[in-house]
Amino acid sequence: MVCDICKGSGKVVCSNCEGKGYFMDRMDYTYYACLACGGSGTGSYYSIPSILKAASKGEIKFGSGWVKCSKCNGTGLLSNDYEFLLSIIKKLLEKKELLQEEINILRNKYNLML
Ligand SMILES: [Zn+2]
Ligand SMILES: [Zn+2]
Repeated sequence: MVCDICKGSGKVVCSNCEGKGYFMDRMDYTYYACLACGGSGTGSYYSIPSILKAASKGEIKFGSGWVKCSKCNGTGLLSNDYEFLLSIIKKLLEKKELLQEEINILRNKYNLML
């Protein structure tokens, strides 16, 4: 079943940098690359030209802003029966419609017609 956290993409917004990929100190224009989502390096630059120069030389690599989804381990899919069935039960209790994909799994794997 498709992971409900990342909606199947396998990636979630980096909570460390809130998806920006870096942190910036507005006082002195210091950039900190977010390590959590793949960045590296820190740079302190006191003028706009020196920031641009450093950026063009690739001295700081900003993070992507995305990290691997921990619930599905980046696959975008959940194979855990327990989690799957819980989510179905929850949906049924809340009288929500099941996705076609979920109906297919119930039908094929559990011989259930809902
Ligand atoms: Zn996921
Ligand atoms: Zn990040």
